[in-house]
Amino acid sequence: MSELSELYQQVILDHNKTPRNYRRLADATSSAEGYNPLCGDQITVYVTLDDGMIRDVGFQGSGCAISKASASIMTTAVKGKTREETARLFDTFHRLVTAGDAVTDPDSLGRLAAFAGVREFPARVKCATLAWRTLRAALEGRTDPIKTE
Ligand code: ZN
Repeated sequence: MSELSELYQQVILDHNKTPRNYRRLADATSSAEGYNPLCGDQITVYVTLDDGMIRDVGFQGSGCAISKASASIMTTAVKGKTREETARLFDTFHRLVTAGDAVTDPDSLGRLAAFAGVREFPARVKCATLAWRTLRAALEGRTDPIKTE
């Protein structure tokens, strides 16, 4: 295992063990539920929007290390961002975990780049993107639970 992927794995393990923003937001303006039946991951994402900007974001749920770490890192990445910036970030992240070579500037992803190795495990892509899909649903005000299939 290369030094870089070892570092990335540590980032994922750290966020799985100590997830950031793992809480329900009392003042959430919207929330959504996501479910990945393939793996059993379940998540609820809470978001507090303020004039189109994500002022606060949190999540709760249960699932594998990838889904939990992805949700945790996502919350740290999107806080303070606008809806549009968040959509662009998800797009870049999605390309990273499905076709990594299409991302010309992985450094712009910060810790999200830790998930680059996921593209070698197609079944895990749904784990890595569940939190993002659920966040998008919350931002769109959808109330039906999101399923990855
Ligand atoms: Zn999973």
